[in-house]
Amino acid sequence: MAKPQYDGPWRRIRLRVLERDGYRCQIVGPKCRHNADQVDHIIAIENGGSWWDESNLRASCGPCNNGRAKGAERWRRTKTRITLVLGPPGSDLAEHVAARRGEHDLVIDYDLIARSLGADGPLDVGDPLHRAVMAARNALIGSLKRGETTASRAWITSTNPKAESMFPWHSVELVDPGREVVLQANLEACRPARWATLVDEWYSTRQPTTSQASPSREWWAD
Ligand SMILES: [Zn+2]
Repeated sequence: MAKPQYDGPWRRIRLRVLERDGYRCQIVGPKCRHNADQVDHIIAIENGGSWWDESNLRASCGPCNNGRAKGAERWRRTKTRITLVLGPPGSDLAEHVAARRGEHDLVIDYDLIARSLGADGPLDVGDPLHRAVMAARNALIGSLKRGETTASRAWITSTNPKAESMFPWHSVELVDPGREVVLQANLEACRPARWATLVDEWYSTRQPTTSQASPSREWWAD
């Protein structure tokens, strides 16, 4: 499908959208410059989005708008707002999401998938079900990355300390109950001893130089 020209009414519409959004980038991707000088189509034309309708337009900075063009970054051109929820192994990320999610939100959470596949407790990596859970989770994340989901909001939970570099996201929420609390939770859930090592890894990766006294917020303040 040929795209309409960037002329005629486009200039006026473009200016109206930039002013409406206060010249602030509405995408806020990982490399966001925040000051917007471009206008982005929220739902791409090839996915049936309107070229002219202002409700399908939003102010965008260059890095965010250009990042969307790449195949691997197609998630940026969908209307789905993705929240990445991070925490150490043993933090209750599903509970955090459950308290905030909307009825039609897509939730991609290891424990929820495991339960739906029949697990009745924590899985170790050697459990045959673990691979099935990972396959389902990867398939869901893959469809998010390709911009195929129609949910207006999606949540991805992860206990990987480097999750931001692995998954698509628009915003990050950190769930950090503290090292002692998660170690105790893992004991109570009868998780394998290996989990304590994962907890240590998480904390040392997230906070290489300071103690847990630092508020977690500082990691993500912009
Ligand atoms: Zn931006």
